[in-house]
Amino acid sequence: MDKLAIVVPCYNEEEVLKIASKALRDVLNDLIGKGKIASDSFILFVNDGSKDRTWELIEEEHRENPIQVCGVKLAGNVGHQFALTAGLITAKDMSDVTISIDADLQDDVSVIEEMIDKFHEGKDIVYGVRKERKTDTFFKRVTAQGFYRVMEMMGVKTVYNHADFRLMSQRAVEQFSKYQETNLYLRGMMPLIGYETDSVYYDRKERVAGESKYPLKKMLALAFNGISSFSVKPISMVLGLGFAIVILSVLAAVYALISYFTGHVEPGWTSLILSIWFLGGLQLLAIGLVGQYIGKIYIEVKHRPRYNIEKVLSSEK
Ligand code: UDP
Ligand code: MG
Repeated sequence: MDKLAIVVPCYNEEEVLKIASKALRDVLNDLIGKGKIASDSFILFVNDGSKDRTWELIEEEHRENPIQVCGVKLAGNVGHQFALTAGLITAKDMSDVTISIDADLQDDVSVIEEMIDKFHEGKDIVYGVRKERKTDTFFKRVTAQGFYRVMEMMGVKTVYNHADFRLMSQRAVEQFSKYQETNLYLRGMMPLIGYETDSVYYDRKERVAGESKYPLKKMLALAFNGISSFSVKPISMVLGLGFAIVILSVLAAVYALISYFTGHVEPGWTSLILSIWFLGGLQLLAIGLVGQYIGKIYIEVKHRPRYNIEKVLSSEK
């Protein structure tokens, strides 16, 4: 029987912790009863340097439910993406399959069973995808959609409307742990792993209590990180722009020379305008070219695995 670990990053979640613990334990017990997961499956709360009583509550829950509730205390606030990574990597050595979910229960815990079913069908990663954005403000809806569009333009593979509610098999987490980069954008990394994936759909709810730990500033930072950690396209765009301007400068030259010979220009204008167009283009071209090398260096220093092996057929045991 497969042992499940539900990984929950928590930052100042004292209001929701007990509710989340109860709801997730109910899910565990239900699945254990149905014989779908091992009886020692557990929840792993990751305390991300909370300033309130979150950790005390996790300890309390662990005392009351020593098998089903476990905890990891990070030595300071590192942010959601790192906290989740710490939890997943800790959980991988203690379990066969992990599910990550936010502490606020905005994601529907009732689709966890469906995720486990897909895992048993052989999927290594199962994405939780939200159906609609009814509960979001107009602003959040528009910015989120714009974000996915920009990501697509930049050639970054992302799963539409998927946050970090996700099942990962042990080997998927193992593979993921080999991506040693510090600029983390988990949603973008999962498709890189390349194992078989599937999705389950649910309605995202309001937070059960407390308020969002993701203010606009953090959201924008995550979005920018998502793009800049996966795409060197912006650099290529600069190079392209440089090319375009150098070519335009030829047209500008023709125009400037015609104006010069038809004789109604200020003295000095022709040479000035020509230099401005040509040098401007040349500079952008040069910056873009240097950028291409920086882009390569950037990709190299990430030291991402060059391939992930999914299966090997061989005669050796
Ligand atoms: N979180 C975290 N560290 C942080 C900020 C948030 O571990 O620095 C956790 C938080 O406790 C929650 C999850 O990340 O479990 C998502 O945060 P939140 O629900 O506030 O984001 P929203 O749903 O509003 O985008
Ligand atoms: Mg939330």
